[in-house]
Amino acid sequence: MLPDRTSEFRLIETFRAAIDDSPRVLTGIGDDTAVVERPDGLVLLAADMLLEGVHFDLSTATAFQIGRKALGVNLSDIAAMAGRPRYALVSLALSPKLPSQDGGNFAEQLFEGIRSMAALFDTTIVGGDTTSWDGPLVINVAIAGEVASGSAVTRSGATPGDWVFVTGSLGGSIKGHHLDFTPRVEEALALRERCHLNAMIDVSDGLVADLYHILEESGVGACLDEGSIPISEAAASIQDGRSPLEHALGDGEDFELLFTVSPDDGRRLIEKNLLPIRLSRIGEIVAGDSCQLRGVAGNETTLRRLGWSHNVGKT
Ligand code: ADP
Ligand code: MG
Repeated sequence: MLPDRTSEFRLIETFRAAIDDSPRVLTGIGDDTAVVERPDGLVLLAADMLLEGVHFDLSTATAFQIGRKALGVNLSDIAAMAGRPRYALVSLALSPKLPSQDGGNFAEQLFEGIRSMAALFDTTIVGGDTTSWDGPLVINVAIAGEVASGSAVTRSGATPGDWVFVTGSLGGSIKGHHLDFTPRVEEALALRERCHLNAMIDVSDGLVADLYHILEESGVGACLDEGSIPISEAAASIQDGRSPLEHALGDGEDFELLFTVSPDDGRRLIEKNLLPIRLSRIGEIVAGDSCQLRGVAGNETTLRRLGWSHNVGKT
């Protein structure tokens, strides 16, 4: 039997009680719309939907982890623009067949995952929608962020000569990172303060696939150095016939930052060691429209834009 509206309302009241007041939020959960203060500058808006069986699997992920991921992927999009996340709307399609969780009711644990991730990044949940059906779990999170005028970093500003950087290490996220990652919000803001970011994207589809988004939007090509691609331990541990490098280039859901800067800024980034996390210079932007991989011996191969196909269920 589907939960009735009364239990949905009760659930929403539980969610409402879990949210702390924010001075920027004039009206949060409980009215027809949220009312928030708009600062000077620009508002960033994005939404991401997670589907059971595609982006997570109930046999390998807890409700809390799924909640963290649902907000985390949105925070990562705000980070990719070098913005500060502020407000989120959480929409849930819940089934009464959802498994019970150690820490309590599935939906409450899911919401707790979202809420705790929001708290880490000073983001307030200001509303959403809760519906019931007997289909798979669907979670949609919409997010709003802020950035000063002229400070949003798009995908379209890469120019030949730029150095290409990536944070963290890549590949094999299916081993667990895709459920347990830190969106690079603070790192993006730190980078924006210290250098001019010409183009940026978060690595969600895979390094090469996401780099191609920058190349297409900027009308340029790139050449990557095989020896400088940061391969994660998880990528190195997968035994499926594909090399660790292939995993690092093609797997998705790393949620790292991929960006380009001028060589001067690039040198400063490396010398000053400005981030508390790993930062790798992986290549440079060139004229053209393709992505080349320079092997350790100097040989070049063209990388196709194959990305990761979202399907956790079949891996
Ligand atoms: P309405 O009929 O006006 O859409 P709802 O009953 O759907 O109102 O929602 C009541 C309030 O609860 C609204 O403020 C809405 O934004 C909020 N809300 C509903 N579901 C969620 C959720 N999953 N997370 C956060 N807030 C929610
Ligand atoms: Mg509604």
